Amino acid sequence: MVTSLQLRLGGDRNFCYLVGEAGRGLAVVIDPGHDPDRLHAIATEHGLTITAILATHGHGDHVGGVARLAELTGAVVWAGAGEDVPGARALADGQRIGPVEALSTPGHTRDHYCFLAGDDLFTGDLLFCGKVGGTGSHFPGSSAERQWASLQRLLTLPDRVRVYPGHDYYGGPGEMPFSTIGHERLHNPFLMCEDFAAFVHLKENWTAYKKEHGLR
Ligand SMILES: [Zn+2]
Repeated sequence: MVTSLQLRLGGDRNFCYLVGEAGRGLAVVIDPGHDPDRLHAIATEHGLTITAILATHGHGDHVGGVARLAELTGAVVWAGAGEDVPGARALADGQRIGPVEALSTPGHTRDHYCFLAGDDLFTGDLLFCGKVGGTGSHFPGSSAERQWASLQRLLTLPDRVRVYPGHDYYGGPGEMPFSTIGHERLHNPFLMCEDFAAFVHLKENWTAYKKEHGLR
């Protein structure tokens, strides 16, 4: 059994995650964010030893604390080969690290990964609750086309799978720090697009769409 802790330890409403295997006292970290000392302390409070640090991608708000956390824990760092994460070993699609399976999901960046642990899916900046990650000139190496393909890959997962995003960017009514594939399939406007052209059209007109639908 897998236990996942969602923690707010980044500079831009970032979420980072501690994923432990119950009874084993071992955990992996997904996207340590900006406060590695606090993260290490939380793991210790929960009786968890951090054995691996996984990066969904190389943007600083997700991986700023990687080097310090590696120093504190001696844990091995993993990221996609095309990502700028110092000291990281290269992930391969389908690779297992502790309780986690790595899924290659490029788009927001060149070599972005999602991580699946039991029924918990950690989506980094590919998929947020009700939104998706940015692509375009602000994001070097990004590709809307590859992002679309990666999102379709996630939609092959069962509806019960929980979606744990890399940011608390939900813009609808109330709070939604996590979701499910089933909920996103039915309610995320980017996943409701019937083809790539509609997806790109929505991306280009997102500000107007949000205004029209009362989203933040
Ligand atoms: Zn990012």
